[in-house]
Amino acid sequence: MYIREMFENKKVVMSAEVFPPKKNGMLEGVIRALKEIKSLDPDYVSITYGASGSGGQTTADVASVVIDAFDMTAVAHMTAVNMTKELLEERLAMLTRKGVKSILALRGDIVEGSKFYDFRHASELAAYISERYPDFELLGACYPEGHPEAKSLDADLDMIKLKTECGVSHLVSQLFFDNETFYDFMEKAEKKGIKATVSAGIMPITSVQQVERIVSMCGVQIPTAFAKICANYQGADLYNAGIDYAIGQIRDLIDHGVKGIHVYTMNKGDVARRIFDAFEGVRK
Ligand code: FAD
Repeated sequence: MYIREMFENKKVVMSAEVFPPKKNGMLEGVIRALKEIKSLDPDYVSITYGASGSGGQTTADVASVVIDAFDMTAVAHMTAVNMTKELLEERLAMLTRKGVKSILALRGDIVEGSKFYDFRHASELAAYISERYPDFELLGACYPEGHPEAKSLDADLDMIKLKTECGVSHLVSQLFFDNETFYDFMEKAEKKGIKATVSAGIMPITSVQQVERIVSMCGVQIPTAFAKICANYQGADLYNAGIDYAIGQIRDLIDHGVKGIHVYTMNKGDVARRIFDAFEGVRK
């Protein structure tokens, strides 16, 4: 089923994100996480694409496991970084063979060695795919606090609108810790005339190192209530408090009528279980 059909038919669409192994073939870790995630009955599972465009084969391999071994809907991430038209054609043929119908089209993280060839932005990747392969459903990223490189949130919203005009029908948000930021973003997106459905991206934080990494990579704001948790708890207490904070965020989002919840479970099956179990009744 396409993701857009899920939004037409379900009360809440709850998805999980995993990452493929760095090297081809070493799938044990992600398979262990997928076993646990399968038992939680997520609406779909998205699989990241290695930064610098190094992914592709491993993303497709994991997508294939999600579809064939676990009978779940897979969304394959794909990036414009290091992507030529020839390579994109190969990747799309591979995803078609593996049964993938939905792609999260991204610019990609810029790391050492990242280069741009035929595509500079997610919208260009989306336009190329939607014009030639309309059977692929396209998803895109959005940023409740604005993308760090954008001049302003308003300028970024113009680019998100462009992305939807290039074929993206569903947006998945960057993680955020203050729900007010997301509600404000949704209001502004609606005023811009952005019609795509949106999933709110929630990352359960379970260690201080994770918070530091996220702030430096994504530049997201840390609200006072969340900063207090990070300052006052350690070890298992922080792990539990981080999961409870994420559950509180999701509960509030659903109470505000948000239909899409994307959980950055990464490959932590236990964290996924705690979060999904808390909403079992709401989703049925
Ligand atoms: P774009 O939409 O291209 O936007 C990037 C910047 O350029 C923004 O500031 C935007 O305002 C501006 N812009 C956009 N279009 C234009 C245009 N036509 N002209 C001028 N300016 C423009 N990274 C990975 O490497 N692998 C992954 O698997 C991955 N998964 C992700 C999943 C989600 C849900 C999210 C939110 C992010 C993910 N990322 C991933 C990170 C993402 O690649 C980075 O955040 C990247 O910096 C931006 O990607 P984008 O698709 O939003 O880019």
